[in-house]
Amino acid sequence: MAEITRRTVLTAGGAGAAVALTAPPGHAEPAHRRPPGRGRGPRAVPEPLKVPEAIGAGGAVSCVDPYAADVGMRILRSGGNAVDAAVAMAATLGVTEPFSCGLGGGGFFVYHHARSGRTWTINGRETAPASFTSTSLTDGAGNALPFAKTVSSGLSVGVPGTPLTWQVALDRFGTRRLRWLLRPAEQLARRGFVVDAYYRRHTESNAERFRLFPETARVFLPGGKAPEVGDTMRNPDLADTYDLIGRRGVGELYRGQVARAIVDEVRDPSTAPGVSVYPGQLTAADLAAYTAPVLEPTRASHRGLDVLGMGVPSSGGIAVGQILRLMVAYEERTGRRVQDLSEADYLHWFSEASATAFADRNRYVGDVPGVPVGELLSAGYADERALLFDPERAMSRPVPFGSPDGDYTDDPGTGGRQGQPPQGQSTTHLNVVDRWGNVVSYTLTIEQTGGSGITVPGYGFLLNNELTDFDFVPLTPGVPDPNLPGPRKQPRSSMSPTIVLDEGQPVLTAGTPGGATIITSVAQILLGYLDRDLDLVDAIAAPRLSSRNAVEDADLGLATSEVGQELTARGHTLRSREWIGNASGIAVERGQLVAAAETVRGDGGAARVVRPALRRGHGRGRRHRGG
Ligand code: GLU
Repeated sequence: MAEITRRTVLTAGGAGAAVALTAPPGHAEPAHRRPPGRGRGPRAVPEPLKVPEAIGAGGAVSCVDPYAADVGMRILRSGGNAVDAAVAMAATLGVTEPFSCGLGGGGFFVYHHARSGRTWTINGRETAPASFTSTSLTDGAGNALPFAKTVSSGLSVGVPGTPLTWQVALDRFGTRRLRWLLRPAEQLARRGFVVDAYYRRHTESNAERFRLFPETARVFLPGGKAPEVGDTMRNPDLADTYDLIGRRGVGELYRGQVARAIVDEVRDPSTAPGVSVYPGQLTAADLAAYTAPVLEPTRASHRGLDVLGMGVPSSGGIAVGQILRLMVAYEERTGRRVQDLSEADYLHWFSEASATAFADRNRYVGDVPGVPVGELLSAGYADERALLFDPERAMSRPVPFGSPDGDYTDDPGTGGRQGQPPQGQSTTHLNVVDRWGNVVSYTLTIEQTGGSGITVPGYGFLLNNELTDFDFVPLTPGVPDPNLPGPRKQPRSSMSPTIVLDEGQPVLTAGTPGGATIITSVAQILLGYLDRDLDLVDAIAAPRLSSRNAVEDADLGLATSEVGQELTARGHTLRSREWIGNASGIAVERGQLVAAAETVRGDGGAARVVRPALRRGHGRGRRHRGG
């Protein structure tokens, strides 16, 4: 980061030039008079190229979607900072990735401010209603409600956190007004974007669920079916909502007309004839009470680097940090180094470290007081847990949880063996580095693809089903479970937006969707880039192994490859998955920015830099940096 000029961009109140990036819409008819979705009208904004890697200077962005990446670049080029660009990109993703994120969801925003050297997080997680108790997701007899039925229901909807996250981010760290930053997304929603295979697949796979809710079918299944690749998809209702909150503020979603519409719909969802779903319990008071606090990140040490992530209610920062700690502890036990291991050895170690971290996560981490974060991230605890490790054989699953009690001489893990709770598979992630060296790592979600399936009538966005991230019943009878539902409680998350610092200077930001696999994907990318000396784009592209204690998934043919067979011979039970996650990141290598995204998964991602380099500098990966 040394070559990036640093100067302050921290202004209070988000005051900035309100320069229009695009012509103000002004012409909008009320939403209810216009058909949403496909149809004639202004030409769609053509789909920009994806491009999974970009190298250069002056600022960089990466994410899954080329429209959002281009919007981020426009904000950076026009003088906005990383926070401004991140908010504009997130709003754009709400248009092009409406099944993964949007105004009806939540997320975690990690921000590194270059001049002060400080890193902050914003907790924009969805929150349960005040009426929730530990048995709210059970039937009268103490059994868990059916998961699939809870997913598509009002009961699973938490108070959205995304709108307030954007406003808090801009108030504390931004330089532009929300209204101005929403305009590119508003215009895209109005003019329309070109449907790609990824969007069509997501719509098609949810079509049946969307038909349960006529408003969702109206907005997202124009003409009654999923749009074809190449069709123009418009969402004028969402464009109007962006216009409304641009003019009147995000308070509209917490206390205004949109808040009232959310509460009405959640408590009494409008369904297709003959369909009944669980009603929700959110009240106007729950929405009005929502806050998105600015918090310290989790801080894990890895070979002298600081790995900064999201703390409780996410388990991401803790579990990623613990996996890194365990890999180093295994080195000390075996006298071998991660960078020298064969692929099979490396993935065996990684699987054991991940399973161990998940055992502790499920036992200790949730939105409860007293989570032993410091102990879970300590070297002493990792050394104790590493006593279970066998370099030749997989530990028998599930691995027991340990005792992060400060006394690391006795008990590597006899605490009990627990299964793995179910979790969704959607969400999206974006990264921004600006010309001043400020960094944003932001993961946002509506939980499952398509969230609850409920669209707020007339406002064009889906509501989350984040409350299904709670454990419906205790994971193991008699063992305390930190992730049971409770009043105004936030369900535990796995989202892991991460920023890595070397002597206070950012060297990497990364993140991904993928439910609980987020933790293993982010840890694997960090290890690939920092320890195994892969280029970032290759660290992202590498086949993924997601060992979550009770289950072990592998993607891109890894399970049946030679390496996969070696793992099986050591006692691993690999389950083949087509893809795990859809990651992106930005590395800083001797002042050069390297933005990277997926090459294959999710049909590839989008990376951009402000000033492309004519050629790549020397010094890729951690081991070459600075040398
Ligand atoms: N709800 C999940 C979490 O917070 C994210 C969902 C996903 O990535 O699919 O961990």
